[in-house]
Amino acid sequence: MPPVISVKNLDHYFGHGQLCKQVLFDINLDIYAGEIIIMTGPSGSGKTTLLTLVGGLRSAQSGSLQILEQELCGAKKGQLTQARRSNGYIFQAHNLHGSLTVLQNVRMGLEVHNNISSAEMKTRSAQMLEEVGLGDRLNYYPDDLSGGQKQRVAIARALVGRPKIVLADEPTAALDSKSGRDVVSLMQKLAKEQDCTILLVTHDNRILDIADRIVYMEDGKLINDRAVVAAS
Ligand code: ADP
Ligand code: MG
Repeated sequence: MPPVISVKNLDHYFGHGQLCKQVLFDINLDIYAGEIIIMTGPSGSGKTTLLTLVGGLRSAQSGSLQILEQELCGAKKGQLTQARRSNGYIFQAHNLHGSLTVLQNVRMGLEVHNNISSAEMKTRSAQMLEEVGLGDRLNYYPDDLSGGQKQRVAIARALVGRPKIVLADEPTAALDSKSGRDVVSLMQKLAKEQDCTILLVTHDNRILDIADRIVYMEDGKLINDRAVVAAS
């Protein structure tokens, strides 16, 4: 089986001309179906940049970045949009819409798939919320939920479309340790059920054990798991 995510010799630059700054240097990383990879490293080292490139949220400039065997480096807008549809995203701030109910927020995760009827969207969203333990909160608004509950809604929204890849950027940063743990355990369980690949950025040492593999980013360079062990 080819890797689900295959990054080769990837460089990335922000800005132009004199202000041009290289933030990623020769990144190489292969991730396979069903793997949970945790990426750690200091603030400003390039973790979010790499995650957004993998997610098709920004264009890859140099090297090779293949997602589900599609090359994203030099890809057209339409291809990036297509790539984004195969991913679920979970961010540090849950990014829920305050004016929409919990159910409507999760439904948003299905609206990029235009082959699903309105009734089915509702059923699937409600089922997903049941799975994350919020079956009795469908008509609540985000403001009426705790931080951990909001993050569980964000997980439901990310996973309701059964994505092949879930990208999570510090999903537990705003949570206490118990809620943080619950949230990642839930991600792990749902991902294993759906055979989905997770790339998760975190500073939270308490959740490292859910990873199949840990990679470390420093100054825009990625060090694989063996090197981390050797260096520590
Ligand atoms: P991390 O997620 O590891 O904290 P980032 O990927 O956010 O790191 O940032 C890596 C580097 O790129 C930092 O030096 C940051 O200032 C810079 N950077 C991030 N986003 C932008 C941007 N949109 N424009 C210019 N520089 C950026
Ligand atoms: Mg970041």
